[in-house]
Amino acid sequence: MSPPAAIDTPSTLAPNEPGLTEAEAQVQVMKFPMPPKFDDPYKERAYLKGRLAAAFRIFGKYGFDEGVAGHITLRDPVNPHTFWVNPFGTAFSLIKASDLILVDEKGVVIDGGENRLLNTAAYMIHHAVHEARPDVNCAAHSHTIYGRAYCALGKKLDTITQDACAFHNVSGFWCFSHTYTAVVFWVVEDTHTQTNVPTVFFR
Ligand SMILES: [Zn+2]
Repeated sequence: MSPPAAIDTPSTLAPNEPGLTEAEAQVQVMKFPMPPKFDDPYKERAYLKGRLAAAFRIFGKYGFDEGVAGHITLRDPVNPHTFWVNPFGTAFSLIKASDLILVDEKGVVIDGGENRLLNTAAYMIHHAVHEARPDVNCAAHSHTIYGRAYCALGKKLDTITQDACAFHNVSGFWCFSHTYTAVVFWVVEDTHTQTNVPTVFFR
């Protein structure tokens, strides 16, 4: 039996790696998967709506929802001044891409599934975030058991872990955890904070 021809052949593909064989040089290095790029914003919209629906399913699976509370919004690639959000009353764990509703900058539902009920708080909070941060395409708002339990303590996160460092000096966290009295109905943009997170008022 003759030996495999390629095994001991010096590589011409990677001349700066002495001793590398042709077969070794042809091994593809694994790359981290990246989001696909689209030339057509309508195709991008369809793709991202599928991802948004999947995000709701994941939130539902891990119990990040609470009744009708909580939202995840997605800036629309066709009209970046509008965003997609979950319709009021539809369970996170059941949401399909075709259920999502499209909300314009005035809070009017202009497209989406059969249930076009919009939670006023969803519009007030998420519109302010999307307007204040054009670089942010998605905003997730949950009512997790752990998050609510911690907020009831009325204190900031100590920066004692890598995860907590992400919230260092983030006034939005402070605001959301300290000023809650009821459902959100108005928002004042605060461009002076480090993160440009709008200040949200409740009543
Ligand atoms: Zn929300």
